[in-house]
Formats: sequence, C-alpha cells, structure tokens
Amino acid sequence: MAKGLIIIGDGMAGRGVPELNGRTTLEVSKTPNMDRMAKEGICGIADPISPGVRPGSDTAHLAILGYDPYKYYTGRGPFEAIGAGLEVKPGDVAFRMNFATIDRNGIVVDRRAGRIQESDGTAELAGLINGIEIDGVRVYCRQSTAHRGAVVLRGEGLSPEISDTDPHREGMPVMKSKPLSEGAEKTAEVVNKLTEVIAEMFSRSPVNESRKNEGKNPANIALLRGAGAAPHVELFEKKYGIKGSAVVEVGLIKGIARYLGLELLEAPAATGGMDTSPTSMAETTIRALSTYDFVITNMKAPDLGGHDGDFEMKIKAIEMVDEMVGFIIGGLSKVEDDVHIIVSADHATPTTYMDHTGDFVPLIVWGPNVVSDSVSNYSERACMGGGICRIRFADYLPILFNLMGISEKFGA
Ligand code: ZN
Ligand code: ZN
Repeated sequence: MAKGLIIIGDGMAGRGVPELNGRTTLEVSKTPNMDRMAKEGICGIADPISPGVRPGSDTAHLAILGYDPYKYYTGRGPFEAIGAGLEVKPGDVAFRMNFATIDRNGIVVDRRAGRIQESDGTAELAGLINGIEIDGVRVYCRQSTAHRGAVVLRGEGLSPEISDTDPHREGMPVMKSKPLSEGAEKTAEVVNKLTEVIAEMFSRSPVNESRKNEGKNPANIALLRGAGAAPHVELFEKKYGIKGSAVVEVGLIKGIARYLGLELLEAPAATGGMDTSPTSMAETTIRALSTYDFVITNMKAPDLGGHDGDFEMKIKAIEMVDEMVGFIIGGLSKVEDDVHIIVSADHATPTTYMDHTGDFVPLIVWGPNVVSDSVSNYSERACMGGGICRIRFADYLPILFNLMGISEKFGA
C-alpha cells in the first residue's frame, strides 16, 4: 500500500522582513530540497483554519489531521497533560500548571519559580500531589518542560467550567477558582482545596529547602489554568482505517498525536530546539514509513526564531528543515512502497509579529502521481501561483489519501 507523509516546519511561514528588503525568511533561506520538491510537485497556499484565524500549534495540528478544532479542541489542559504523560479519560478535567513563587501574603512574585527545571526537582514536587484524593476526586500531577506541569482531576460530576487559580501576572494573589456555570461548584471547590494542599506540601519539600539555601525562588505554589475536559474523538485508525505515527518534538503536539491514537516515535537526537538533529528526525521518519501507512513529522525550530523576532535564527532553522527534507527524500528508496508527501507549515510565525498570525502557509504536494505546475521554489510568494490554489488544512488528508489510492468513491 502506498504511504503518506506530512512534513511540518513549525511556524515556518512568515511575512516580509524589512531588513531583508521585504522578502520572507522562507524566500531568503537556502532550501534546495524543498525547491526541488516544489518543482517536481504541485504547490499552493493553505489556511490553517480559515483566512485570518490565528491558530495555535495544537488547533493547527488537529486541523491537519482532519479533526475540526472547533469541535474537538477543549482547551490546552488536556493535550498538555497527555503530552506530559498523564492519562486523560472521558469525564476528567485537565489543567496546565506553573510551578511558581508566592510571598508570605500569598502574592505571586515569580510565575516561573526562578525558572525551575526538571533537574531541580519538579518531578519530586509533582509527585507530592500525584495520587492524593480530595472530596472523592483523585488528583494526578506530572511535571513537563521547565517550570510547567499538568494536573488531571478524576471523579464524579466534574466540570471544566471554572476559572483559573493563576492570576496570569505577578504582584497579584493566587486566585480563588470560581464556577463559571451551574454544576461547576464542586470542581472549583476541589481546585481551591488542592491549591491549599499544594502550598502546604511544597513549602515543606526539601527541594525548596535547598533552593532557598541557594538564594533561588522556591516553587512553593502551583498555579492552574486552561481547564478542559477530554474531548471524545474517534481514533485515527478507526476514522481512516490506516495506522499512523508521529515524529514530533514538543509536548503539546505529542499530546495531540497520542490522544488521536498515533504512535509516537522518538528521534533519539531530537531536542525541540535549535540544536535538534535533522538527520535523526529524518531517519526516524523513514523508519516510521516502513511500518506505518501515515506519518506526520514536525520540526519545532522555525517557530522559535519567529517568536524571538530573530530572522537570522529563523533562516537557520528553515535550512535545518530543508536538510531534514533532503535526508528523507534520499532515504525513500529504503521504503518498499510509493510515498506521497505534503510539505507545509502549521501556521505563520512572522519575526515581525513574534507570534502566530492568521496568514496562509505555502504547501507542496509531491509524489509519483502528481501533475506538476510551474512553481519551482518553496515560499509564500512562489506558492501563490501554484496549481492547488488556496485550500484549508482540512483538505490535506483527503488530497493525500486520494493520491495513495485509499479514498472511498462518493457516488456510483
Ligand atoms: Zn506551531
Ligand atoms: Zn509558536
């Protein structure tokens, strides 16, 4: 059976940069491999959700995988929790969490607790509340990257319709969670009791004792935000009848992939940073293609340069994506079947905006059965003239499945 691959350069699309005479970072980057694919394939532009809507990486990936984010996105909490390795079941409520510092009066003085890291003992702190029970509700907690973590509540009658305990800025007290709709009173109460338990347990932890001795801000509280219930989804394999896997670097996208039932394959030298390994990610992708019908591979680096407003960093990151693409194309001979590929970004992260925008992204559809157009390089501007014209992420899998020969006929 033919295989399908989607390669995503995270936040790789952008806008004109004044220092580059109005050219985009994609236009300036040296991307011989993606340019070759653009030449051999058919190009176009795509709106992640719809024109002008600014997507997160999470909603964008849901859309790419054919799950309408308006229907299935229930807040960042559940996906962050799954990405951190917690289980989220129907009926659970999940939160994102920050290890933070409060003063004697309960005022948040540092929302990142001195930029505490996992190596500083966040796992030990999370372990203090993991498994405790409050009013019949079981609490699960796990650290994720840096000062972040996730909490899952499991029990009868829980609701995600509650406010955050995170005041979202320093100099404010830890907020009391309030019910935002009828029936959410119990959940808010459990969260408030949990916050008291956290304050007490964290303040006694040896982790904080040593932080204080080193003159660092203690992680003496955890702030909860982004409450969400686990969405009910049809798993990828059930929905499409094929087995999928993901080679992705960051927790949030891992969470989405795992939740949809994609097998997560870890590239040994992938880091999610500028020091990631294009070769390692490419090798893992090729290996995945030998076993699975569908693979999605995401390299995070371009998004980082975009958020930092650093166009030189972003150019370097785009060239790393191109390097990975080159290794993948070079390795396709190791896969027994035909491989059909879409190359795209999950959204634009222009260095001039330093966050995601609602702009379109350029895409390439490449494979043995594609009728090529006249586009010969991969960029926002060049792909505007491509044969695919303008589509949405929701169209990606139907296009791929059609080329793979696994689409069902509509009608007689
Ligand atoms: Zn992204
Ligand atoms: Zn981003």
